[in-house]
Amino acid sequence: MNGTVTISRRIEWDMAHRLGPRCTTKCKNLHGHRYVAIATLGAETTDELGMVLDFGDAFKAMKGFVDGQLDHACVVDRGDSALRDFLEAQGDKRCEVSFPTTVENLCGWLAARFQEEFDRLPAAAGRGVRLVGLRVFETPNCHADWTLSE
Ligand SMILES: [Zn+2]
Repeated sequence: MNGTVTISRRIEWDMAHRLGPRCTTKCKNLHGHRYVAIATLGAETTDELGMVLDFGDAFKAMKGFVDGQLDHACVVDRGDSALRDFLEAQGDKRCEVSFPTTVENLCGWLAARFQEEFDRLPAAAGRGVRLVGLRVFETPNCHADWTLSE
């Protein structure tokens, strides 16, 4: 039977954000979430053991980015200058992006960031390892999905 095998790895982190005055619901307020991302990877060819990618390598790649840029940071839209300036004045950890920090926008942006990290893995070299899907939970009940378009 024809099909494609993928693997998925989960990672969690804590991060603050706000959607600001353009948002008319409670998400306009500065608040935090326990974000969860589940990355799904495929490969043109598996390694000699039949792996798309070792789960440990996949996690290490995501964790480096998450720990360095996102965990216990505030993700802030550069257009939200009041919040950006406040965080800068406080010297607080922040991750500046160029879009409103909805889970939909974060999901697409994170897909590109995670692919960059996977591309740096020696274990993935030359085998066409690529992110084919990413699910990001903002709350236990709400998530966004990104899917690779061919
Ligand atoms: Zn939120």
